[in-house]
Amino acid sequence: MKISEILKHKSTISFEVFPPKNKDGDISSIYYTIDELSKLNPDFISVTYGAGGSTKGKTVEIASTIKNKYQIESVAHLTCISSTKQEILETCQQLKDNHIENILALRGDYPKDPLFNKEDLEFHYAKELNEFITQKFPNNFCLSGACYPEVHQEAACFEDDLKSLKAKVDAGAEYLITQIFFDNNYYYRLVKEARKIGIGVPIIAGIMPITNSKSLLRTAKMCGTSIPYELSTMIENYYHYPDAMKEIGINYATHQIIDLITNGVDGIHIYTMNKPEIAQRIFDSIPTVLKELNHD
Ligand code: FAD
Repeated sequence: MKISEILKHKSTISFEVFPPKNKDGDISSIYYTIDELSKLNPDFISVTYGAGGSTKGKTVEIASTIKNKYQIESVAHLTCISSTKQEILETCQQLKDNHIENILALRGDYPKDPLFNKEDLEFHYAKELNEFITQKFPNNFCLSGACYPEVHQEAACFEDDLKSLKAKVDAGAEYLITQIFFDNNYYYRLVKEARKIGIGVPIIAGIMPITNSKSLLRTAKMCGTSIPYELSTMIENYYHYPDAMKEIGINYATHQIIDLITNGVDGIHIYTMNKPEIAQRIFDSIPTVLKELNHD
């Protein structure tokens, strides 16, 4: 089923997983993760795409298992910056053959390769990927896009980023998933300003429960996400205590989720970092609030 169909009737709760990285290319550990996440009955699980990396190609396999073995809707992330049109055609064909109906269409980050040359690119922005897939596979896929409550790092300003977002939606993105944020006010600003310029599609909030201070700082830097004073004080006090950091991360994310649901969010997407026990603990602590998302 297309996620856009689900979103017509309810707000969603979903998870993101990534293909595990290891030397032998063995991804079997992901199936434990999915086993556990499936017990929480999510509306969908998305699978990241490691452009050019060792896990390239695993996205289709994992998304296919989620859909065909676990009977849970899956969303395959797909980046285009390092791909040719032919490669995108082949991946989309594989997704279609595996009955996957949902693609999170992304540009991806510029490769760090010094030989990388922007002149050679066949795709420059996610918008072009939307146009290409829509043209080559009309009606096969529900496309979605990424959006940035704290502005994408390459954008000159919030307004420019929002205009590009509108173009991406006009090119076929039927719903959006946000980059992580730790201050819900950035999400509310994005939704409010997006609606003003005619972006009407659902905007799902991406929430990352932090589990250790190092990964939090690394991720926040990579994603251009700010850390509120309140959270940074907690980290400062507890970064030596892994169990305390986990409790703080889970409770902080849970509090964000309660606030978002209270304010009528379109959906919650939990970046699980392949740690199903974290999602489980969030679910255990607010079962009644999560039902407010129209979710049994
Ligand atoms: P775009 O929408 O193309 O935007 C990129 C930049 O270009 C922005 O600054 C935008 O303002 C600007 N822009 C867009 N269109 C135009 C235009 N027409 N003219 C001028 N400027 C324009 N990365 C991965 O490698 N694999 C993943 O699986 C993955 N999953 C992600 C999931 C989510 C929910 C999010 C939020 C991000 C994910 N990313 C992933 C990271 C993403 O690839 C990067 O953030 C990337 O830098 C931008 O991708 P995009 O699709 O948002 O790009």
